Amino acid sequence: MTQVVIIGAGPTGLTLAMLLAKSGIAVKLIEASRSFRRIFRGEALMPSGLAAIEQMGLSDVVSNIPHRAIDAWEFYIENRPIFRVNEPMESVGQPCTLISQPAFLEAVLEKANKRENFEFMQGTAVRDLLRQNDRVSGVRLSDGQEIAADLVIGADGRNSIVRQQAQLELVQAAQSFDILWFKLPTSPAWQAENVFYSVLRGQEAFGVLQGSEGNLQVGWSFDRNSSVDWQKVDWAEKLAAAAPDWLASHFRAQKEAIERPLLLSIVVGRCPQWHVPGLLLLGDAAHPMSPIRAQGINMALRDVIVATNHLVTALQQPANVAAIDLALAQIQAEREPEIIEIQRLQQAEVGQAELMHNYPILRHAVSRLAPVIGSRIRKSWLDRQLQLRQGFTPVDLKI
Ligand SMILES: Cc1cc2nc3c(=O)[nH]c(=O)nc-3n(C[C@H](O)[C@H](O)[C@H](O)COP(=O)(O)OP(=O)(O)OC[C@H]3O[C@@H](n4cnc5c(N)ncnc54)[C@H](O)[C@@H]3O)c2cc1C
Repeated sequence: MTQVVIIGAGPTGLTLAMLLAKSGIAVKLIEASRSFRRIFRGEALMPSGLAAIEQMGLSDVVSNIPHRAIDAWEFYIENRPIFRVNEPMESVGQPCTLISQPAFLEAVLEKANKRENFEFMQGTAVRDLLRQNDRVSGVRLSDGQEIAADLVIGADGRNSIVRQQAQLELVQAAQSFDILWFKLPTSPAWQAENVFYSVLRGQEAFGVLQGSEGNLQVGWSFDRNSSVDWQKVDWAEKLAAAAPDWLASHFRAQKEAIERPLLLSIVVGRCPQWHVPGLLLLGDAAHPMSPIRAQGINMALRDVIVATNHLVTALQQPANVAAIDLALAQIQAEREPEIIEIQRLQQAEVGQAELMHNYPILRHAVSRLAPVIGSRIRKSWLDRQLQLRQGFTPVDLKI
């Protein structure tokens, strides 16, 4: 039987492993961390990602784990509301939904574990690639163990070791900011509806919403070149000073509860080539996504659907390496246009935010004139969101 080894049990690796195993292919999935709960994992799914989940037959998983729809998006500049958009946007499709990613991964693993042709190796990292006749033929683990494979898939995220070992170049886009991530108890303001607030005040910008498990999550945009030691900042006060007045008092009241932030460094880029003979990169390993408008998991799930379509046919033929390697090129060719377009749209969103950040006059004009020009700004924002929600190319699971 053809053997596939997948490195990384994030959204990409786990869903691909489950789908390939379901099609009868022998899959080994290797994950470095011992628990899905140990590291930060994004929560937001756009309609494009929810549709991918439905096609994978995982909608029941989402309904059975902690999840929460977003009811609306609201934008504040200089302490004034600028515009609001309700979900689902323009009353079309599903609302953007937050899911507990650890619970999602655990539930998908449970499904995969039911297949005898699936094996999960947890708490062990891949260190190196094995090669035979100029083709990748397996992996070496950190304890020296070697695992042979007809196909290796690197789904090991933005800092992919597999990508480095395969000498596949990552072309990075310049990023001016990282994210400081906070969790704190929720406030009564979120009782009636779950609004994602985007707040810009002076040089400070953050987003806040109620996460899948009911606490507030704050993503603070932190300038990479800042000389501020973020570990020494009084964050309750700093958040309160940037927040609209009604929210500031909640931050101050939660001073003791505000957990120390987690610094999440942003890597954005794309590999010009996602594959070498015997090896394919998918998800963040091939194209690390910006957190802007929550695209990473969605793009990862859509990669998986396209990869499954091509790989199942190629892998079911007995040890036909030429067919497998041809499928790798076809997967990149089918997925690349969407990734390029979505990263361009994310960059355009960053560009809008930077414009406001860099020009105080513009910020003040927009905040003062919001009652007059708010609806035009809202329309322009809505027009930019369509593909960020629905995706750019059709993606349909065919097997
Ligand atoms: C601040 C921030 C917020 C985000 N929020 C969202 C959001 O709300 N919605 C959204 O869609 N996207 C979001 N993203 C992006 C999203 O997290 C990623 O795009 C997505 O997780 C990519 O999935 P993946 O499976 O390809 O990689 P990952 O989720 O990174 O999974 C890779 C896995 O590989 C494992 N691994 C790594 N190296 C090895 C090794 N050598 N051996 C074995 N295992 C290894 C890791 O432990 C990990 O489990 C956010 C990103 C950031 C930075």
